[in-house]
Amino acid sequence: MLMEKLYNRVMKLLLWSAIPILFLATYFIVPQLKSQPEATLESPLIQTEESSPISTVEPVSLSVFPTTLIQGEPARITIAGLVSAAPIQSLTLDDKPLSVFVDEGRLVALVGIDPHKKPGVYPIVLTLEDGQKIEEKIEVGKRTVATEEFDIPEQLGGNTPQAEHELTSTLAQDTVILNSITTTISPERLWSGQFRLPLNGSPTVTDVYGYSRQTGSVSLMHQGTDFRASEGTSVYAMNSGKVVFSKSFRNYGNTVIIDHGLGLMTLYMHLSETDAKLGDSVEKGDLIAKSGNTGYSLGPHLHLSVRIGGFSIDPQKFLELMGSR
Ligand SMILES: [Zn+2]
Repeated sequence: MLMEKLYNRVMKLLLWSAIPILFLATYFIVPQLKSQPEATLESPLIQTEESSPISTVEPVSLSVFPTTLIQGEPARITIAGLVSAAPIQSLTLDDKPLSVFVDEGRLVALVGIDPHKKPGVYPIVLTLEDGQKIEEKIEVGKRTVATEEFDIPEQLGGNTPQAEHELTSTLAQDTVILNSITTTISPERLWSGQFRLPLNGSPTVTDVYGYSRQTGSVSLMHQGTDFRASEGTSVYAMNSGKVVFSKSFRNYGNTVIIDHGLGLMTLYMHLSETDAKLGDSVEKGDLIAKSGNTGYSLGPHLHLSVRIGGFSIDPQKFLELMGSR
């Protein structure tokens, strides 16, 4: 009997003490269960504690700098979310392929906008080997073109109808040669790091890119930047590359063209003499020529042109994008 009473008391005690335990357990555990997010089709449940570091790699995306530009300006496209170019099948701007290269650990491409490209919005499409397409847009604004009247220099016959006729016909020939050189694309990048100025010090810009020079009935777009330079001033390679032209044009005068690879070239014109020879490999800062006043030039200066994918773009904008500051 005594044992039976004792057993009953113990059981009652256990029962009463279990109630608050159960209550506390319900109070703490149920809300925790409820706080778990529910999986949906749009956002599947992710076990963040068990995620491996690889799943945190950012998605593949494109960005363009600068975001707004006008005809005849360069831009840089950066691809994020890829550790190498291996998965890339193509990168195009307005259906034309672009070269992708690694710059300071990033996958990038350079774009030169045709100075005559119709203003508007154009698609940039990155296609990966697995068929995935990533798209961005680039907006090209219209360039306001100022016109200035220019004389035909005395060394090209002065302001006569015959000199004007000769200017037009020889310029067409010069342009054919120039375009045949600047549209060949070396598959390898020959430059590295930033581009330097072609002259030492802080040269003064005497003429900007993109305005129209009216010479009689001929209208010529100034496709480069002119720097003040007295005759015989040393001209240096803006970056490493290969000399693909080193002789004289009638209108551009003595000219050196350096191919930096991937469709990027720098052109130095109206030189008094050229030191670099066709086929030479040059390093950034190598002496390549002396500035002068040859060809269609109205005084000693250095004319610099920069071409990307065959299009002559604004050298000052190029230096803002790729140059040492
Ligand atoms: Zn010029």
